[in-house]
This record gives sequence, C-alpha cells and structure tokens, in this order.
Amino acid sequence: MPQPWDYIAKVVNIGDSGCGKSSLTIRLCEGRFNPAHDVTIGVEFGSRIIPVSPDKKIKLQIWDTAGQESFRAITKSYFRGATGALLVYDITRRETFDHVKTWLEELRGAADKDISIILVGNKCDLAEEGKRAVTKEEAQEWARENGLKAAVETSAKTGEAVEQAFVDCAKEIWKNIESGVY
Ligand code: GDP
Ligand code: MG
Repeated sequence: MPQPWDYIAKVVNIGDSGCGKSSLTIRLCEGRFNPAHDVTIGVEFGSRIIPVSPDKKIKLQIWDTAGQESFRAITKSYFRGATGALLVYDITRRETFDHVKTWLEELRGAADKDISIILVGNKCDLAEEGKRAVTKEEAQEWARENGLKAAVETSAKTGEAVEQAFVDCAKEIWKNIESGVY
C-alpha cells in the first residue's frame, strides 16, 4: 500500500509560556481543548496529515516545547531539521508580542534559513471580552516587515483558524519542496 503522505515535515512551536502552543497542537491533532495549563518538562509531539494540493499530502510532525520556554533552555536539537515554525503570542498579553522579536532571532539563529514561519496570535476568542492588547494590523505589519510568510489569529479554545495556521505553514513548506529548496 502506498504511504498516505508525500513528505514528512518537522514544525516547531515557539513563543512565551502560556500563549497556547500546547493547546494549538492538541486542538489540531486531537480536536479538543484543555483549559488546564499543564507544564511538563521535555518536548512533546503531535502529528497530522495536511493536504497541500489536490494530490499531495504532508505529514506535519509538530514539536512542542514543554515548560522550557521560560528558562530559554531550548537547545539547537529542538530546531534541527525543522522546515516550519509557528511563532506564537497571546493577543491579550502585550509582552508576549513584544517577545516575538527575541524568539524570531533565536529561531533564525538556530534553524535552517529557509524555514517557513507563521506568526500566530492566539486566544482571539478573548477579544470579544475586551481583552485584546495587540491589534491584527500591527501583527500583520510586523510579520511583513520581518519576512514571515503569514500572520493568523487563532483560538485553540473554539478552534478558529487553528487548522488554517498549520495549513498555511504546510503550504509554504510544500512551495519550498517544489522549488527544490529542500
Ligand atoms: P503554552 O505554555 O504556550 O503551551 O500554553 P498552553 O497551551 O499550556 O495554554 C496556556 C493556558 O491558556 C491554558 O490554561 C489554556 O487552556 C489557555 N488557552 C490556550 N489557548 C487558548 C485560547 O485560544 N483561548 C483561551 N481563552 N484560552 C486558551
Ligand atoms: Mg506548552
């Protein structure tokens, strides 16, 4: 039987603790939301097969930092071989957006230069409660200025645009594969 995917891609989550990196992975891979903040030590994984064209599929292997992000203890091996990244902040906490700059430097210093990076503003469900601290426009502008492939607002809680964020990443990876970058 043929493999159900054409390519396996490593995608790493990065960003401040508490932004919802683990929740986004769980939402994409298991279709559920856990309101508890489970900080465990080590790296966790999720995977999901994503169609990138009518006849091609990529299996995303999502690497998730678990409790290391506050200590800046992420090692080079976390980034090694990654072809995609989700750079995550929390739209209700301004400082998490201020920190994406530092995370991007870290990522660009450690990962392959052709890595496809998507900026993800999570917890957009809380915008309706007046908790928004970062506008969509400034995030989009920042993403453009810094050469990121896309900026998406998501909610791991409701599921809004979670799939889109990972699909955008998968499609960018596929573009690189087709143009012979990998
Ligand atoms: P991580 O440290 O970046 O992995 O963040 P977690 O996935 O552990 O999430 C941190 C906290 O934010 C948890 O209590 C989650 O339930 C909550 N959370 C994550 N995503 C969302 C979201 O989209 N909306 C809301 N309202 N809460 C969220
Ligand atoms: Mg986590």
